[in-house]
Amino acid sequence: MKALVVGGSGFLGSHLVDLLLEKNYEITVIDNYVTGNKKNLNHIQNKIRIIEHDVNQPIPLSEKFDEIYNLASPASPIDFERIPLFILETNSKGHQNVLEYAKNHGGRVFFASTSEVYGDPEIHPQQEDYRGNVNINGPRSCYDEAKRIGETLTTIYRLHYGVDTRTVRIFNTYGPRMRPEDGRVIPNFFTQALAKKPLTVYGDGSQTRSLCYVRDEVEGFYALMQSSETRPVNIGNPSEMTILELAQAINKLLKNDAGVEFKPLPKDDPQRRRPDITRAKQVLKWQPRISLDEGLQKTFEYFNSK
Ligand code: NAD
Ligand code: UDP
Repeated sequence: MKALVVGGSGFLGSHLVDLLLEKNYEITVIDNYVTGNKKNLNHIQNKIRIIEHDVNQPIPLSEKFDEIYNLASPASPIDFERIPLFILETNSKGHQNVLEYAKNHGGRVFFASTSEVYGDPEIHPQQEDYRGNVNINGPRSCYDEAKRIGETLTTIYRLHYGVDTRTVRIFNTYGPRMRPEDGRVIPNFFTQALAKKPLTVYGDGSQTRSLCYVRDEVEGFYALMQSSETRPVNIGNPSEMTILELAQAINKLLKNDAGVEFKPLPKDDPQRRRPDITRAKQVLKWQPRISLDEGLQKTFEYFNSK
């Protein structure tokens, strides 16, 4: 089987490439390294083909892939401030380039959407049928609306142009290969705890997230891609915790006595987030296996070795 992984040098993309390689895929990666890291694929660079390319330009290939995974998009709130137009373009024009490629050459397309399409949700936990509560004019809208456009494009190409598509809604995922300076909660907390500094908790830390370990997450991607499910599917870990509880767990694991430091809550920061994974369980027979303790330990080993 031949796979194209767009955004394959990033955090999730590189773990997906590892998994596909284990399954003996012939793999091509496209990445422009806007947020990715060449080192993420160093350990397998002789086993895959890597093309440096911005997917906002047409894909410079003409062969057929059986599976095309599109994970290209900056995903950290600090990037929403830094490169909003690029994020919007990558999930719209860039994703359309991927869909056009499949329309012309064949192959099943996988779109990496996000729990952010639910915005600051009014229902809890979030099911796929929920249409969301996104502030279209807020600081996160360049990302949230970009992913919603990406889903719409995916649907148009499936219904009108016969492209075979799969859509995953990814909930917060963590693990080795996150960038220390990425700005998301896990890299921030590990970097701070390793330096024996207080962990920066935004707001009062009562907002919740449900964290999925990266290996579980990419196994969910693979299960979805092998299934016949064309509706969006939530993939994430339903065990929910407050950000303050997460900070305390990381300080305990790293034996950091510096505690926490409260900082202002960013605008439109979702108050609660937990996936309803009934669809994934029923249709894909998938559910996460790795506990938070085990996942945090593996993540600690990674950040500690940097
Ligand atoms: P990441 O930034 O580590 O990976 C994204 C990769 O795409 C990077 O290697 C980047 O260089 C590349 N890229 C971005 N724009 C590109 C472009 N125009 N052309 C070519 N390459 C480009 O982020 P990640 O956490 O691995 O996220 C991967 C995907 O999953 C993204 O689409 C993101 O929106 C989605 N997602 C991630 C999470 C999460 O918790 N990590 C949650 C929800 C959704
Ligand atoms: N957060 C925090 N301290 C940090 C970074 C993030 O308290 O140093 C909070 C953030 O406000 C949010 C949660 O942690 O409520 C998850 O943030 P992240 O940026 O990882 O992802 P999000 O789910 O917001 O996209």
